[in-house]
Amino acid sequence: MTDREETGRAASLYDLDRDALADLLAGEPAYRIDQLWTGLYAQGRTLDDLSTLPKTLRARLAPLAEGRLTVAATSASEDRSTVKTLWRLADGALVESVLMHYRDRSTVCVSTQAGCAMACGFCATGQAGFTRHLSVGEIVEQVLYARRDAGAGGRRLSNVVFMGMGEPLANYDRTWGAIRRLHGAVGLSARHLTVSTVGILPGIRRMTAEPEPVNLAVSLHAANDELRDELVPINRRYPLDDLVDTCRAYLRAKGRRLSFEWALIDGVNDRAGDARELAAIARGLGAHVNLIPLNPTPGYPTRGTPPAGVAAFADRLRALGVNATVRRNRGTDIDAACGQLAAGAPPRPQQVAPPTRRRPTPA
Ligand code: SAH
Repeated sequence: MTDREETGRAASLYDLDRDALADLLAGEPAYRIDQLWTGLYAQGRTLDDLSTLPKTLRARLAPLAEGRLTVAATSASEDRSTVKTLWRLADGALVESVLMHYRDRSTVCVSTQAGCAMACGFCATGQAGFTRHLSVGEIVEQVLYARRDAGAGGRRLSNVVFMGMGEPLANYDRTWGAIRRLHGAVGLSARHLTVSTVGILPGIRRMTAEPEPVNLAVSLHAANDELRDELVPINRRYPLDDLVDTCRAYLRAKGRRLSFEWALIDGVNDRAGDARELAAIARGLGAHVNLIPLNPTPGYPTRGTPPAGVAAFADRLRALGVNATVRRNRGTDIDAACGQLAAGAPPRPQQVAPPTRRRPTPA
């Protein structure tokens, strides 16, 4: 399928790889291609800022570069450490990205799809359903913008996490096209790029064969099939044993760190037995566990585990020999935290069943 058919739009300047750009500029001297490619990606300039290019050439390229991604709104947390951007795409679809400043680094969380088809009930994006795939250019532009934004504040964008709206491995080719561009032309090390997935195994297998050693994060949330089938419905197609085997093969091939995301849901996946099941899987893979109390979303009735329960769960994991951290909850005041990205879309509550509360297991 062509990009046009799948994303419903013609390619933008940022969708073109270097060869396609060279074709587009056929007849121009070769150094022009270098100037444009380096200017857009390594230097992160906009076409307007590329004053080394002749005006006529810029004018010719302008229609390809304009209006593909426009800022519809921005919001910042009170301390400005988290900034969310709502993007309007050329066809009106909306997606969000989030720039987060930490003491020693700045990270942008980007979207790979408008909406998501994975239907995890506790996630605002999943509640809203799938709209369409993003193109390579639409993913890359989110990063270029964040880098400029960070730079304007005297910060250097060092990390990119594919943890915004959508399932990156359900849009594999374009996500990987973006990774290649970021790693190659933009100059971000693959070691500073993290792909997060619900566990689409064919996608993880493809990643295993790619040359770029990116970090893999798996949204686990449950460590037995019965509960995971309910929380992360794709588990019915790709169950836990196969997921673990596929992660192991990835680690062997890449030597990168694996992390598991675990949103703690009160009375659902925060019991002592859950910690034990999770520890058994995480230890076997040497995986790091990121705990995050479930963030509220409009379409999900159950709340996050209260702070004391989160700390207890983390302690339990550590006592079982697992490297676990509680993720600082970024951006909840601006609906920019994990699972809250919905680009203003209302949830479709009929899709979302309340989770089954489990009986507590003995400690
Ligand atoms: N589809 C991919 C990429 C999105 S990453 C994936 O699921 O991995 C977004 C992360 O936030 C995932 O780990 C997701 O499970 C988590 N998440 C979703 N809803 C959440 C919520 N309400 N509270 C906390 N984390 C949530």
